[in-house]
Amino acid sequence: MSNFNIFLKQGTCSYCNNSIVIQRKHSGENLCPECFQKNIEKNIYKTISKYEMLKSKDRIIVALSGGKDSISLLYNLNIIQNRTHNSKPIIALIIDEGIKEYREKSIKKAKEFCNKYNIEYKIISFKDKIGKTLDEIINMKRETPDYKYACNYCATIRRRLLNDGAKELGGNILAMGHNLTDFAETYLMNILYKRLDIIANQYFFKEENDEINQFYIKKISPLIRIPEEEIFLYANIKKLDYYPSHCPYREKDPIIRKRVLDFIQECKKYSPEIEFNLLNGFLELSKTLYYHRKKKNHSLCQKCGYPCGNGKICSYCSYLLEFS
Ligand code: SF4
Ligand SMILES: [Zn+2]
Ligand SMILES: [Zn+2]
Repeated sequence: MSNFNIFLKQGTCSYCNNSIVIQRKHSGENLCPECFQKNIEKNIYKTISKYEMLKSKDRIIVALSGGKDSISLLYNLNIIQNRTHNSKPIIALIIDEGIKEYREKSIKKAKEFCNKYNIEYKIISFKDKIGKTLDEIINMKRETPDYKYACNYCATIRRRLLNDGAKELGGNILAMGHNLTDFAETYLMNILYKRLDIIANQYFFKEENDEINQFYIKKISPLIRIPEEEIFLYANIKKLDYYPSHCPYREKDPIIRKRVLDFIQECKKYSPEIEFNLLNGFLELSKTLYYHRKKKNHSLCQKCGYPCGNGKICSYCSYLLEFS
């Protein structure tokens, strides 16, 4: 992450006379460390309120990896919950995929953070839940003709374990640390692969649906209007102790997702507002698709009973069958 420059820059803050730490190309603002940090915290607060992400009685479960995004999110949500009268304490949910060295170190940071701020946490591992670590799955599948890259297996399994783990902890909200850059990357991937059902499902103002609610917990992403480099800057200014490295599989596998991110970063040089445009485009498209597809019937997975796209078995269960 050393490509982000966190040293003070030339110029004075748009809101006070201090030296600046960032020039925001997408808005033209110059910000000193103090104003920048307040601005990020206000952004998180306003995002929660604008998209009606939380109610005072919610039990929030935060998906915590130990990286800069989830640590910054937990830090802020914990402050918000502590300030909210009669709120329920947050619980952090840590998924241990079983990625040698990388996950061991990031979990250590996640646990230290929770202990420092007195936040309850729970760790759920791939090994305990499905009998294999991600490393074991990759070793088993890598040389086979139907190998689908680590991220495909990992994301599908982790999503289910997070969802079910959050429900078991009594949560009704699962807070994710996705920032604007992650979001733009995922949205563009969904467009490229014509995953219109996923875009429709991500609509922020979905109506309550008891049938779906019995399976899936509501997910929120309060960092969704903050670009990745600003979360990095924020976490460093606040001196939050996070694990600074990326997952090795993301670098190793020739995944399209990585190329899509490189493409967005390249576009940002010429059009700094591009990620915000993608977010705004998503908001409109997801609403249209949601209302258009609402009446579509879901089939239920024959193994786990969860709603699944077209086939008879959901992707989580079909992976479990492959690994057994
Ligand atoms: S980069 Fe891919 S393999 Fe690594 S933790 Fe994320 S989804 Fe899993
Ligand atoms: Zn200032
Ligand atoms: Zn299933």
